[in-house]
Amino acid sequence: MSKVVLVTGASSGIGAATAHHLAAAGHRVVAGARRVDRLAALAGPSVDVHPLDVTDLDSVQAFVDAAVDRHGRVDVLVNNAGVMPLSPISDLRIDEWNQMIDVNLRGVLHGIAAVLPRMRAQGGGHIVNVSSVSGHRVDPTAAVYSATKFAVRALSEGLRQENTDIRVTVVSPGFTESELTDRGGAPEAQAAARAAARQLAIPASAIAEAIGFAVDQPSTVDVNELVVRPTAQT
Ligand code: NDP
Repeated sequence: MSKVVLVTGASSGIGAATAHHLAAAGHRVVAGARRVDRLAALAGPSVDVHPLDVTDLDSVQAFVDAAVDRHGRVDVLVNNAGVMPLSPISDLRIDEWNQMIDVNLRGVLHGIAAVLPRMRAQGGGHIVNVSSVSGHRVDPTAAVYSATKFAVRALSEGLRQENTDIRVTVVSPGFTESELTDRGGAPEAQAAARAAARQLAIPASAIAEAIGFAVDQPSTVDVNELVVRPTAQT
């Protein structure tokens, strides 16, 4: 069945791969991010693109409203947008802590707030939240990032328990090819993450396929969490 699927953070990496994959599978995709020039490359018969800043609730609501104007409903929201500027806590890179909280945690909550009333009125829907292997374990330089990703798993579980008509899925990737390590963070920490990613990372399409698997289950089947990591990642 063709669904209306919204994907946040679709201008690169896992979000772009997910938009491609779901459109190829026959779904109608609305893809959002801040870099609209990068989104333009995705646009096509099955993919609409829309500017989106997940830290701004009004922007998220406008993104959802645009999808409803175009398609009349929202079946799935993939809360994928995320940032990972790594650093030791003792560096006190407080602006970057706040950025991670704003994008990775508040952004997910904004997405939920913007779609939940509509999904409940429709009698169902599906929210896919992208957490991380870092939502299961903590590593040096990734404490704040991990904190946001643990939080995504916690709020997803609460959302699931409170809404028997809404499917809730957490997808937790390990090292995956993307632009995640390109921005911000302490140079040494980012270089170490880039080196590990170069050695281990699996293609973003692997995560897109996991998301597609959850989306394409029957409405009575809720895949609660998928952890997808490179075989060689410890
Ligand atoms: P990328 O950096 O390639 O993609 C991140 C996406 O998030 C971009 O499209 C970016 O778009 C978007 N984004 C960032 N800030 C905002 C914002 N304020 N509003 C809207 N969109 C925003 O990295 P990934 O594809 O790897 O990241 C996708 C998700 O996967 C993230 O949640 C990340 O934490 C998670 N993840 C990734 C792993 C990996 O190894 N790659 C491992 C585990 C989890 P733009 O800048 O144009 O707004």
